[in-house]
Amino acid sequence: MVRINPDVKSKTKANWGFDLNAILAKQKTAFNTNPNPSWDNRKANLIKLRTAIDANADAFKTAISDDFGNRAYEETTIAELLVIQGGINHALKHTKKWMKTRRAPTALQYLPASNKIIPQPLGVIGIISPWNYPLQLAIMPLIGALGAGNRAMIKPSEYTPKLSELMKTVLGEIFTEDEVFVATGGVDVASAFSALPFDHLLFTGSTSVGRIVAEAAAKNLTPCTLELGGKSPTIIDESANMSLTVPRIANGKLLNAGQTCVAPDYVLMPQAKIDAFSDAIIKQAEAFYPTFAGNPDYTSIIADSHYARLQDLLEDAENKGAKIRVAGDDDKQQLAKERRVPLTVVTDTTPDMRIMQEEIFGPLLPVVSSETLDDAMDYVQSRERPLALYWFGEDSAKREKVLHQTISGGVSINETAWHVVQEDIPFGGVGPSGMGAYHGEDGFRAFSHMKGVFTQSRFSQGKTLFPPYTKKTHKMLGLMKKII
Ligand code: NAD
Repeated sequence: MVRINPDVKSKTKANWGFDLNAILAKQKTAFNTNPNPSWDNRKANLIKLRTAIDANADAFKTAISDDFGNRAYEETTIAELLVIQGGINHALKHTKKWMKTRRAPTALQYLPASNKIIPQPLGVIGIISPWNYPLQLAIMPLIGALGAGNRAMIKPSEYTPKLSELMKTVLGEIFTEDEVFVATGGVDVASAFSALPFDHLLFTGSTSVGRIVAEAAAKNLTPCTLELGGKSPTIIDESANMSLTVPRIANGKLLNAGQTCVAPDYVLMPQAKIDAFSDAIIKQAEAFYPTFAGNPDYTSIIADSHYARLQDLLEDAENKGAKIRVAGDDDKQQLAKERRVPLTVVTDTTPDMRIMQEEIFGPLLPVVSSETLDDAMDYVQSRERPLALYWFGEDSAKREKVLHQTISGGVSINETAWHVVQEDIPFGGVGPSGMGAYHGEDGFRAFSHMKGVFTQSRFSQGKTLFPPYTKKTHKMLGLMKKII
């Protein structure tokens, strides 16, 4: 992926308008004065956040649409605002319980001592977020951080400057600088940000930048949650109901014009069915978007560099023998002017094509032939572990086989993407698609220290193991061996 936004000029540190080290120091000092915020305190923060986001919903929709060139307000409601509302409401319902000290069992040989676990806030959480869902991917980690009793600093993407500035203003109105701070700016700010000694750093973005961020964090031994990308496969089984499958894949691929970390990257299915599927998904895309150019429902590609990257992927595939089918019959120049890319189905692919190697992050859909389930699973398992995997079908034995014999961050069955917004299951990648998870209780845990506490009893028999070691000690050790 193109990593430098040519439109964003780096400023000198003196012109950033803030001092990252000083703000972190302020947040750490403030945290130390109240290292265990009460439930009432955390609840007030979450409610304040929900109210402010609600009050500014229209402004957020406009800012995001302006940053993209066009994005339907409905899409921002579906994929950002409702997700945030769900996350806050879930946290409000459950955090009080998650915060509680919990008893833990004590093994027989240590009785009558007791064990417990105290969830503690970590301190200051750093959040680095990408541009594709620029509000949701900054606020969802913030919900976890605040629910767990932390303070937070956010570095949003330089590709969405209007949204980032608005988010800074809105959060600045409800939180003091030592509670939540938004550091806007380019890669220079991001790089300095990732080098700060946070108590935890959550990064959402590409695998390549994730590596750089993890290295910077390692210098401070700052633990990281890395929410990265990759090529998420979709396997269509012979048993799939195609009238349900086609629209769901089309929707997952075309939401935000494919600029979704968990968008179905490519499809695996038997060769004999590829033509019919390609026809059907092109027709479906045209039904969703009767035109792509000028259509307020269809999202633009975020920047010229990203638009050019998608065109390059297609050109490379075509030069290497792929067949390309483009939905609709929009004027190419108009599409380019608006940075809109219609659904484009790519068949007859080969592994040396860039489109089969890089995360696509746009509405290009390679359909790869794979005759059996074992072929499809081999294809997936021999590549980098993906962020998501989709399986469409009705054959439960095959479904269970895929679920247990492939490794991916998460899965939706007979659907795309929706596993991501389930607050009761973890969201995260595995291997090159990420490490760690958040959302719901997993978010609370990611931003908490689960402190184990052992309390000894006055009746402890531990003294039988004190030196000097005698026959009595050996008798005791023999007894312990039997009961352990
Ligand atoms: P990106 O990696 O280019 O940028 C993400 C963030 O990192 C931005 O805020 C940017 O300022 C910052 N950054 C850039 N260079 C940096 C550096 N050297 N040091 C520290 N920070 C730096 O990603 P992007 O283009 O904004 O987003 C697209 C990628 O994000 C895709 O790969 C997509 O799959 C992934 N993504 C993952 C998830 C997820 O939840 N797993 C969600 C959305 C996007």
